[in-house]
Amino acid sequence: MTSLAGRPTRIVVDLDAITHNLHAIRARVGVPTMAIVKANAYGHGLLPVARHLQAQGVERLGVAFVEEGIALREAGIRVPILVLGGIFGPQLGQFLAHDLEITVSSLDKLRQVEAAAEAAGRKAAVHLKIDTGMARIGVHGASAGPFIEAAVAARACAVVGVYSHLACADDPAHPMTALQLARFATACAHFERIGAPMPLRHLANSGGVLHFPDTWLDLVRPGLLLYGVLPDPAARATVDVRPALSLVSRVVYFKVVRAGDTVSYGATWTAGRDTRVVTVPVGYGDGWPRALSSPTASAPGARRGGEVLLRGRRHPLVGRVCMDQFMVDIGADSAWNEDEVVLVGRQGDDAIGVAEVAERAGTIPYEILVGLNLRIPREYVGG
Ligand SMILES: *Cc1c(COP(=O)(O)O)cnc(C)c1O
Repeated sequence: MTSLAGRPTRIVVDLDAITHNLHAIRARVGVPTMAIVKANAYGHGLLPVARHLQAQGVERLGVAFVEEGIALREAGIRVPILVLGGIFGPQLGQFLAHDLEITVSSLDKLRQVEAAAEAAGRKAAVHLKIDTGMARIGVHGASAGPFIEAAVAARACAVVGVYSHLACADDPAHPMTALQLARFATACAHFERIGAPMPLRHLANSGGVLHFPDTWLDLVRPGLLLYGVLPDPAARATVDVRPALSLVSRVVYFKVVRAGDTVSYGATWTAGRDTRVVTVPVGYGDGWPRALSSPTASAPGARRGGEVLLRGRRHPLVGRVCMDQFMVDIGADSAWNEDEVVLVGRQGDDAIGVAEVAERAGTIPYEILVGLNLRIPREYVGG
């Protein structure tokens, strides 16, 4: 952090950490990777991350929506891209025009894809989605036979993959994963039964990669883990990953708050003694959660309130997080305007991870990362 040109608040993405994590995942699973880059690559920036992953030889990319896939194609990304989300008929022409792989999640959708492919004079590359317990999108395992048969017979479709999604893989002890794996295997057996070649079978998200080797099959689909974050406090760090994202800002204001005076909206926090308070120019308008406001005595709840690193020490957020600013009580410590403040990342001997921020805000690390919005400039190091 050397320049104060532009906004002093920055997300710094360490591309070397993403490289390290991709290789660590590959070394563990021994099958190809579909790197998940939906939701702006979990806040890390869709295009820079996708370009970097392509340069690292990633086999495939996965996104949630067709718009994300088109953005990748328009930026010159050439690797196969699967759109994981449910499809809308009128968008199918866009899938075909941009060579995006389609998730087909019902017989009805299969018919729509066939019709669109025939109309466009192209073959649609499809992955069949089986619902093994998530009940989100996908053909229920019990109806998979006729669905697979119809897809294999559809001349305008090339069945590239068959997949499902795990509901409970973040927890290494949860019995749901074995049940889903068994249902998925039963569904996949229909390909053998009708003498059709087995397409790519894929099931493992980050939790599956970490905890359930039986789910690795032909391809893994890690998202969060690729960015160096574990999905859950119960997760086991069976892959050595490093966090890729830091969020830093600078002190914009310093003052002394007198004992008995209050800080921020609602006057929810009262100084118990004369103390030093600094203001940091980041707020919920950037996606920094308002749930990191200091807990009030009248509503203690589960939240613990946020902390930041300043001059190598931890200090608590006080009062409510505003849209564009929040305040930090530094007690008797000193600080100067423009001092670096670390919201996520390392400073001195201490570090605040996304998982910690999530726990303090009463949410999951996914929501913290993807919430960091486009008002915050991204800076890329390494790569
Ligand atoms: C988001 C998503 C993933 C990646 O999940 P992580 O928990 O971030 O690894 C994998 N598969 C599907 C279908 C998804 O929607």
